[in-house]
Formats: sequence, structure tokens, C-alpha cells
Amino acid sequence: MAEKFKDACGVFGIYGHPEAAKITYLGLHALQHRGQESSGIVTSDQERLYVEIGMGLVADVFSGEVLRRLPGDMAIGHNRYSTTGASHIKNAQPFVAEYMRGGLAIAHNGNLVNATSLRAELEENGSIFRSTNDTEVIAHLIAVSHRKPFLDRVVEALTRVRGAYSLLLMTEKELIAARDPYGFRPLCLGALGEAHVVASETCALDLIEASHVRDVEPGEILIINGEGVTSMKPFKPVFPHQCIFEFVYFARPDSTIFGENVYLVRQALGRQLAREAPVDADIVVPVPDSGVPAAMGFSKQSGIPFELGLIRNHYVGRTFIEPQQSIRHFGVKIKLNTVRRLVEGKRVIVIDDSIVRGTTSRKIVSMIRGAGAREVHMRISSPPTTHPCYYGIDTPTRRELIAASRSCEEIRRYLEVDSLQYLSLDGLISAVEEATHGRYCSACFTGRYPVTFPEMEVPQELELPFR
Ligand code: AMP
Repeated sequence: MAEKFKDACGVFGIYGHPEAAKITYLGLHALQHRGQESSGIVTSDQERLYVEIGMGLVADVFSGEVLRRLPGDMAIGHNRYSTTGASHIKNAQPFVAEYMRGGLAIAHNGNLVNATSLRAELEENGSIFRSTNDTEVIAHLIAVSHRKPFLDRVVEALTRVRGAYSLLLMTEKELIAARDPYGFRPLCLGALGEAHVVASETCALDLIEASHVRDVEPGEILIINGEGVTSMKPFKPVFPHQCIFEFVYFARPDSTIFGENVYLVRQALGRQLAREAPVDADIVVPVPDSGVPAAMGFSKQSGIPFELGLIRNHYVGRTFIEPQQSIRHFGVKIKLNTVRRLVEGKRVIVIDDSIVRGTTSRKIVSMIRGAGAREVHMRISSPPTTHPCYYGIDTPTRRELIAASRSCEEIRRYLEVDSLQYLSLDGLISAVEEATHGRYCSACFTGRYPVTFPEMEVPQELELPFR
């Protein structure tokens, strides 16, 4: 397959609201951080499905006129994460298909680890695929099922797929929400008057003034139709392994996921980091926005003042034209600038949530030194990211992950910082588990993948401790 299956996204659905499309548009807007590549909404007026999908941000894709083409009182929507691979409208979601029983729309957040082998099997039996999206595999499995009731077809299809999915499915008449048995990605249920809402994160419920009823549980399927919300748990139960990286970086700090507010968890990580890796310095400076809550926690715990020594420009688009005479660290400078008066002559502790390739961090450090900092100490509120995620977060290959092949001291030298320390794995897990009483997947920090890969789909760059 030319493109890699890769999806880290935001999903939103509503049943029983006269302005379903508009509410979904707002929900997607709140979930924009989960995906910026494409955005789509499918509605139903109980007779047929209406589809509007485009490349770009929610506000670029949907205008008043586009939303008027989406009638009906139920809808699902999807934001797709920008990936390094080819991005194409054919992979944009919701995925919509017509099969002999009617229309079907699917919005998927996650990543299936056995999509390639299922696809090969389906193609062998005559299915023709039109995208390289793993979500399409689910649509085909539903279509070829011999079961009669739609729900049974969905359950049969989901019994065959392995990996991560927080999923919304919609027919002309009903909405189905499903979360994989491990519960990798978040999914919550809300209420807006008489209407039922499902969303990746609670920040989407807040914007539309819906209440947070509860999370969709790992392994749970919700059927939402004229009779209300029905729950079932058809899968063999397993220990949930929710994604710890959602707390570290991905989710929005104002959301409550997996039973706890993201901001508070990030603050706790910062406090733990200060206990584990103290350093004598003058100011604590976050890399905005992702490092802010952890830096607050670090500052409170250490007593070292918190300062916004780096300011982010929030209006930067994807690409920028650089003048002929190139500007040093242009890519970072266009997004971030130092407050020179704050850092000049100071011993600065820079806090970020994670280091991926290290390229951004290196430029930030150089910028802070350029502004006159006397010392720069870096503290990271998660352990070294050593392994790619195959459950729905877009991470580069092991070769590109700086911590996969280099020691902390080697990374320190590369970043040109006076000291570098990461949060310990124990520190991360105990802080998160204490706050939420949940169980977590931390494969990106350990390489211990809770859902193993079928023989033919083991990613090439992985050694195989999990077989
Ligand atoms: P770098 O120094 O180039 O490794 O960049 C580190 C920055 O990337 C940190 O500020 C992180 O918040 C951010 N980051 C971490 N994980 C991801 C991800 N999956 N996608 C995009 N950015 C990320």
C-alpha cells in the first residue's frame, strides 16, 4: 500500500437536534487540535445521508452555505490529523458508503493493527477499496456480514478488527458509538436538552453547553436512536490500556478524559518532575502551549518563579515563504519568540511535555541563549519517547525519534543545554494512575505494545519483544 494507515483524529456526533450540522461544526471546532488535515460532516434526515467533506481546518471547510446543505437532526463529524505521508481527500472522513441496506457513515479515531491483512482477505473475496484508510475496512466488514440486524453486523465487524478505535457509525436512522476493549482513545457521552452527544473530548461538550453524562467505556457500544441510548458490551473483557500520551500532550487541557481533568494531571506531572529533577535556577519557562501546565506544577513545587519567557504567535499557517537571505531558525521563530528582558542574564528552566525529533527543542534553546540566558536547563514532563505509536497518535518512525537511539547525555549535547532530565516512567504512571485510578498504555515510552501485530503487519522498524 502506498500510504501508511495513520489516523489520530477527533470525532463528534449528535442525535435528536434540529440544528445537528451546526452543533457538529461547533463540536469539531473545539476538537480542532486533534486533527487539522481535513474535516467532514455527514447528516441524516431519517431518509438519506448528506455529506460535506473538505481539506483543511473546520472553519475553512464549512461556511453557512455548506452547512445549509446538511439537513436533518442527526450528524457525525470528523477532524483528521495531519500526517507526514500524502494527505488526500479520498482519505478524509467520515467515510461514507452505500450498500444494499442503505447508507453508512463512519468516523474513526484510532488505528487498526490488522487492517492490511483484513483488506487483503476482503479484496480476495471481491471487495473494491477506494481509499487507503483503515476505516474503510470496517465498512466492508459490515457490508459483507451475513447477519441481518445492523447492530449484529457492526458487532461482527468489530470482533474482527484489532487495535484502537473510538468510532461513530451512522445510518439514516441511528447513531452507534463504539470504543475498543482497550479504550486507547477517549470518547464521552453528553446530553444537550433532549439530544444525545458523543465526542472525543469534553471540551466539545462545553462549547455547545451540553452536560458530560459519562465516558463511553472501553469495550462498550452505545446505540442511539428514537428509543434513547442503549448500551452493550459484546467483547471479551481485557484490562483497559488507555493512552497515557493523551494526558501528556494530545488532549486539550480543559478536557476531562479517562476520569480526570487534563490540566490537573499535567500540573501533577510538573510537580513530580520538580521532585525528581530539581535544579537551582531563576525562572521556569514553558514551551507554549503544550508545556504550560507542567511548568506551572514545576514552579509551584520548586518555588522558582513561573514566567512566560516564550511567546507564541497563534496565527501561523502551515507554510511560510522565507526571504532569500535565510533567517536563522526561521521555522521556530515564526511561531515562537523570547521575551528578552525576562531571560537576559538568567538561569532558565525550560519545560516541555515531550521531545520527538529534538529539532524544535534545539532551536528553542538556541533562541533562549541568543536572548542572553546565562544557563538553560531542560526538563521534560514525560519519559524519553523511544517507540512509535500504532494506536492512533501520529509519531515518526524509530529512526527519527531521537531518544530511540541516543542516551540522555547525547541528547543533552545535541540540544546544547546545561542539563536535561526527563520524568521517570514510574513517576509518570504513578502520577496519572493516582489521579484517575485507570490503567494505561505507555508503549511510546516502553515499546511494550498491549495489542500485538499480526505476523504480516509487524512494523519493519520494530524488534519483536512482544511476539
Ligand atoms: P521536537 O523538539 O522537534 O522533538 O519537538 C517537540 C515538540 O513536539 C514538543 O513541544 C511536543 O509538545 C510536540 N509533540 C509531541 N508529540 C507530538 C505529535 N505526536 N505531533 C506533533 N507534535 C508533537
